[in-house]
Amino acid sequence: MALLCKQFPYNDDNYGFLLHDDQTGNTAAIDAGCAPSYLSALQETGWDLTHILVTHHHGDHVAGLAELKKATNASVYGPKNTKQSLKDLIDNPVCEGDMLSIGRYKFNVIETPGHTLDMLNYYCAGNKMLFSGDSLFVLGCGRLFEGNASMMWQSLQKLRALPHDTMVYSAHEYALANAAFAISVDPQNKALQDRVSHIKNLRDKDLPTVPSSLAQESETNPFLRPDDEQIREHLNMMGESDEAVFTEIRARKDRF
Ligand code: ZN
Ligand code: FE
Repeated sequence: MALLCKQFPYNDDNYGFLLHDDQTGNTAAIDAGCAPSYLSALQETGWDLTHILVTHHHGDHVAGLAELKKATNASVYGPKNTKQSLKDLIDNPVCEGDMLSIGRYKFNVIETPGHTLDMLNYYCAGNKMLFSGDSLFVLGCGRLFEGNASMMWQSLQKLRALPHDTMVYSAHEYALANAAFAISVDPQNKALQDRVSHIKNLRDKDLPTVPSSLAQESETNPFLRPDDEQIREHLNMMGESDEAVFTEIRARKDRF
C-alpha cells in the first residue's frame, strides 16, 4: 500500500504528476498545463482522476484545466486569491494552513508567493513529498514575476524548514542551466560540484533530475543558502542580512 506517483514531461520542460492511493483509488493531478499529456498518463496508468491541485495561474500549469476537469469530473483545488478565470474553475479554494486529503494521505497547503502572488505548494508529510510548483527548483528558484525578493525568501524559508528527507517535485526541468549559475556563486562547494556532474550525467541520458531531496537542495541550492559563509565571502557580503544576500543572488541569476 502506497501513494504512487506517475511523473511525465509535457511542453518543453514542464513535469506533470499523478498521485494515486492504491487503497481508495483516489487520484490527484498536480496542475493541468496540457490536457492531452495528463489524459494519456491517466490512460497509461488506468487511474481515474478525482482531484486536481493547482499551484498557480500561469498558462503552462493551467492551460488544460478546463478540458481535464470536463473530461474527468475531478474536483479542483487551488489558490483562494487568484485571477478570475482560474477562480471560475476552482471548486475548493484553499490557502495557508489548509489541509486536504487524497485517499488516506493528507496534504498541507503552503503559500509561497514570489514567482506569482497566488503560488501554493502542497506538502504530504506522511509520504515525504513536496510539490513545489515554480517556487523551488533543482538548484534554483522561480523568477520574480509578481512578488519581490523579500517575499520569495520568506517563502523559501518555509520550505527549507521542512524535514530534509522530503522529496521535492518541482514543475520544470531547469537543472542544467541552474547548475551553471549555482557554480558561479558557490564555486568552492564540493557537494555542489559532485551534484553538477551527476546532473550532467542524468541529462546526457535524457533522465529527469526531479525529484530531488530537500537535504540535497539545502547543501547545494544557492537560493536556500544566503546564510552560507563561503557564498557570502564570494559575493563580498559578509555582514549583510540573509535577505540582502538572497536578493543579490536572485538579481545575479536574472543577469546570468
Ligand atoms: Zn510559473
Ligand atoms: Fe511554470
